[in-house]
Amino acid sequence: MSDNVKAAVLVKPGMVEMREFPMPTPKKGAAVAKILLAGICGTDKHSYRGETRQFGGTSSAKDISLPLIQGHENVMVISDIDEEGSRSLEFHGEILKPGDRITMCPDVVCGKCHYCKHFAWYPWCDDMQFCYGNTRSCDEKEHLYGGFAEYIYIEPGTRIYKVPDGLPNEMAVLTELMCVTYTLDKAKEFYSFSGEGFGFNDTVVIQGVGPLGLAHIIKARMLGAGKIIVTDLSDYKLKLAKEFGADIAINVETTTEAERIDLVRQETRGLGADVVVECVGYPHVVNEGLTMLRKAGVYLEAGNFVDVGATPINMHMICSKNLRIVGMYNHAYTGYRPSMEMMLRDIKRFPWDKFISHKFPLKNTEQAIQASMEKDSMKVVIDPWQ
Ligand SMILES: [Zn+2]
Ligand SMILES: [Zn+2]
Repeated sequence: MSDNVKAAVLVKPGMVEMREFPMPTPKKGAAVAKILLAGICGTDKHSYRGETRQFGGTSSAKDISLPLIQGHENVMVISDIDEEGSRSLEFHGEILKPGDRITMCPDVVCGKCHYCKHFAWYPWCDDMQFCYGNTRSCDEKEHLYGGFAEYIYIEPGTRIYKVPDGLPNEMAVLTELMCVTYTLDKAKEFYSFSGEGFGFNDTVVIQGVGPLGLAHIIKARMLGAGKIIVTDLSDYKLKLAKEFGADIAINVETTTEAERIDLVRQETRGLGADVVVECVGYPHVVNEGLTMLRKAGVYLEAGNFVDVGATPINMHMICSKNLRIVGMYNHAYTGYRPSMEMMLRDIKRFPWDKFISHKFPLKNTEQAIQASMEKDSMKVVIDPWQ
């Protein structure tokens, strides 16, 4: 084990620099893990572009803390762990030891506020301690709080999940992303009491099929979707979406909004889609998605994770069609193990090896972030040991 740990640091928007930090020793309740793979998330791209406002409009609104080691979609192996950490860090109570492969929930909550007490499965915390790869600067404490590094420091209170044997690192690195498809589970719940949204064999439209959209195709299939219709401006992504189970793929650059809405109606016997999921990450697509819905349809807002502005919506349509809009921030802590076990169960059902389009070494992290913003990339990951 070397004395210094290399990390890629976002020093300001649009600028990543390689730095070295001392190898930490885990304090009480903590652990140090070697990063095996770290995914580049939509949030990382937003931060790199300088779109840094998160939790906007709530009491916990904040900007990311620079300089920052980004990376919160991490699959790791424990290299050093304190005795208390080995007993307390794993979410399901498993004992952790060096050599165990793990994933993590990046949000570390206070455990004491109204939301932590009333909604214990969900990080709505009003006093969020920090988010790995996102809101704790590498100037603080043990420095290594992001996945774009050789090692990461895991603080007490972090929710850690053991990776099931047989699940490749290239799939385990998608776990956090799969957890973010949680609103599809919510849409299922609404169906059970009022026929809103997502019943067996229902039509799901997914706006935007980057990694988040692709994860929603997979999850919708796992949950019993019927027809899946996707939109995007990249033919590469649309083709991949079909390989992962989308039935109809529409390029938004060669069709008009009216044509797309019409097509969704034709494909649903004139009714409209049961569920539409926003995975573009910009608000201008929302109105189109709402218009595609049937009466009592459900709109799932997963993409606008950072504040990139507003869009005009005619609220009459929400009334006249009895629509439900479900917002989504982060994901349930309870989603990690089910996501990993379901991915393992469906290892032969989807062409998982195509989900990751690029793998970059740590020193090329900036190039990797740029690649992740290209039209012809899907999930881009950092392999610090490549
Ligand atoms: Zn993410
Ligand atoms: Zn809290």
